[in-house]
Amino acid sequence: MAKALIIGAGGVAQVVVHKCCQNPDVFEEICIASRTKSKCDALKEKLDGGKTKIQTAQVDADKTEEVIELIKQFGPDIVINVALPYQDLTIMDACLATGVDYLDTANYEPLDTAKFEYKWQWAYRERFEKAGITALLGSGFDPGVTGVFCAYAQKHYFDEIHTIDILDANGGDHGYPFATNFNPEINIREITANGRYWEKGEFVETPPLSIKKVYDFEGIGEKDIYLLYHEELESLALNIKGIQKIRFWMTFSQNYLTHLKVLENVGMTSIEPIVYEGREIVPLQFLKALLPDPASLGPRTKGKTNIGCVIQGVKDGQPRTYYVYNMCDHQEAYKEVGSQAISYTTGVPAVIGAMMILKGLWKKPGVFNIEEFDPDPFMEQLNKQGLPWHESFEPVLLD
Ligand code: NDP
Repeated sequence: MAKALIIGAGGVAQVVVHKCCQNPDVFEEICIASRTKSKCDALKEKLDGGKTKIQTAQVDADKTEEVIELIKQFGPDIVINVALPYQDLTIMDACLATGVDYLDTANYEPLDTAKFEYKWQWAYRERFEKAGITALLGSGFDPGVTGVFCAYAQKHYFDEIHTIDILDANGGDHGYPFATNFNPEINIREITANGRYWEKGEFVETPPLSIKKVYDFEGIGEKDIYLLYHEELESLALNIKGIQKIRFWMTFSQNYLTHLKVLENVGMTSIEPIVYEGREIVPLQFLKALLPDPASLGPRTKGKTNIGCVIQGVKDGQPRTYYVYNMCDHQEAYKEVGSQAISYTTGVPAVIGAMMILKGLWKKPGVFNIEEFDPDPFMEQLNKQGLPWHESFEPVLLD
């Protein structure tokens, strides 16, 4: 039985809190802490009365000292960081200062440049090792489950993996002309960045959204998919031995892309601060304030997500293709935890990752990406915790 400090109270945190409360045998007590305490209190109110004890707190996680103070007061066994990528390092510093395990779902991002790189967090390896504590990076869906899928394929089905295509489809419709399914700043920064894929030992860069294909997804149907850079490519390129090519694909509708193009053309997606009426504002942060809160999309979103990996390689001298994926229904997720499937598919793996560490299965001093651990107990929990996966050996190739 353990205590978890959950930092953040947005769409993903809502799922994390629900799932912790569904697993009181592991999570005896949780503390929900965020910048806006009223959001934490609202979550506590929804879930109070179960076996898991809930506390709330106000914290500005940009300030290491505040996080240290909170950790000292609450005394958690793990910190589950589901605030924003900007807080990763300050929270890791606080974990180091207090000797507590750490988990997040997205790599650290500096405020002024969209990088999607692990270098800042990998630089903590030695310090976490010396402190004897574990940091699990990227325990969401992608990154997260997609890395576990690759590790599972490597362990059970391949002697050598040659190519990985990660396919992320969202067939959900929320009825708004334009909204992002998770934090708009992070989402838009990701999409407007150059595309990049890994081939033969190096990254090949492509203009944003310039490579497109059509793919027929189970539960969704045919969708346009676009090649994007995604942070798990960096760690998978290192951790999947012998890999020659990794690409990441995401679905976008023409309507979504048209809105995005206009916003980009008028400068609203920029992360460069501008001065407006004597005050500095970041256009993308202002846009975030205008767009629907992702946490409010839950009741309106219908349809499914389908995210998985098409993996090709060799087993016993024979070429083999393996496809492993999960489908998640927006309405069912909302019924269960009050959030749509994007938050659900991120929050559930965060809780499973925390369980892996708390149960001692993935307890190892250092800083790790998810594919570095034994995938089997995680895969088992996905089926139990609401994200069942499916596999196929039929060729489902992209080209
Ligand atoms: P939201 O914007 O809905 O929530 C973020 C929460 O963090 C808010 O409660 C916010 O507080 C809080 N927060 C922001 N800054 C601070 C701070 N300085 N101190 C304390 N709390 C703070 O985001 P989501 O829930 O959608 O996403 C959470 C994380 O999950 C993000 O890092 C995102 O990148 C990641 N993610 C990962 C995915 C994956 O598959 N790996 C997929 C989707 C998301 P306030 O309410 O005051 O603003």
